[in-house]
Amino acid sequence: MQHSSQLSAPRTKVAYTIEFYPEEGKYHYTGHRNCKVVQMPEETKTNGTTCPVCQRKLTVGVMHRVQQLAARGISNFQFPISNDEFGVRWIKDEDGKRPPFVKLVPLLEIIAEALSSTTASGKVREVFENLVEKFGSEMAVLLQTDTAEIAKLAGPRVAEGVGKVRSGDIVIAPGFDGEYGKVKIWNTEIQNSKLKSQNSTEEKVSEQMGLF
Ligand SMILES: [Zn+2]
Repeated sequence: MQHSSQLSAPRTKVAYTIEFYPEEGKYHYTGHRNCKVVQMPEETKTNGTTCPVCQRKLTVGVMHRVQQLAARGISNFQFPISNDEFGVRWIKDEDGKRPPFVKLVPLLEIIAEALSSTTASGKVREVFENLVEKFGSEMAVLLQTDTAEIAKLAGPRVAEGVGKVRSGDIVIAPGFDGEYGKVKIWNTEIQNSKLKSQNSTEEKVSEQMGLF
């Protein structure tokens, strides 16, 4: 059992950083919701930030900033990836300028989807508390616990969900200009997904904005 090992190496400033999937963010791409306009960063570079429908300024998305950082070699989005012994897919900076990072989905949301419930459900919260108590922290459960151990406590579906998030085997629908994107772990459930907790997503958005 390695879940109790330190998350940061003693001699480096940061061993790795953790980010939630930025595509889940409210302002991922540049766009205008009411005009049904959404632009990839490359398009914004070519076409500028004026809306082709209403001619007003578009809401510039986080990805535009990420692209700017990537151009300076700071972001890791296109760089090689590798899996560790727990199946976590690390994204590594080719030049070693930035610590490798990992994209994760909050444990509460994984459990909620695994149990076809919501993050507000008492059962979901109980499973969450049990896992965190047993393995030490949310990040220990997400990153450094054998999925077989998770299955013993929380059932095979939750364990599978954690495994899928670690390997990046999940479904992402980007959000833009105030319309929330969605991260779903099981493909079949993306159709009837509804935002369960607007507040928790707001928190993630501000966290994510701070990172870029
Ligand atoms: Zn517009």
